[in-house]
Amino acid sequence: MLATFKPTWMVESLYHVSPERLKKNGINTILTDLDNTLIPWNNSIGTQKIIEWLSFMKDNGINVIVVSNNNPKRVQIAVSDLNIPFVARALKPLNSGIKRTLKRYNLSKSEVVMVGDQLMTDVWAANNCKIKSIWVKPLVETDLLVTRFNRFFETIIYRKLKKKYPDLNWKEDIN
Ligand SMILES: [Mg+2]
Repeated sequence: MLATFKPTWMVESLYHVSPERLKKNGINTILTDLDNTLIPWNNSIGTQKIIEWLSFMKDNGINVIVVSNNNPKRVQIAVSDLNIPFVARALKPLNSGIKRTLKRYNLSKSEVVMVGDQLMTDVWAANNCKIKSIWVKPLVETDLLVTRFNRFFETIIYRKLKKKYPDLNWKEDIN
């Protein structure tokens, strides 16, 4: 049961993950959550910074695809300046959105990693799909009620995970 929520790695943020390490692990595509993983839910990080990061990843052979539970309209608006593909209404923690993404972009499970700020949606969905995952800290704290609810359980789950897997800690990059 606990393994359902176990991330492959825990990293400070999406922006800490290096292309070299990803490639070392056979990964060429990041599937990223949108809110509080790629962009803060209140949009306080400049778009220019994200565009620069995206082009850095691209230059180093890493593709980025947004896989979000949000509705298509909201995701479309959020990524409109970023020029990256997205899958909306992904229904995480179910695996249907990730499966749809793999099929649409002709990707195998071993070459992708799901990155997200929530154990109970992003990491659980990745495990449901048997792909690697990176749990990241949220870019900003959120007041959304559903997220606060998830965070409450997340704290309990992480405490249990930590007990069972003592070396599961926040790191600067994946290993
Ligand atoms: Mg999120």
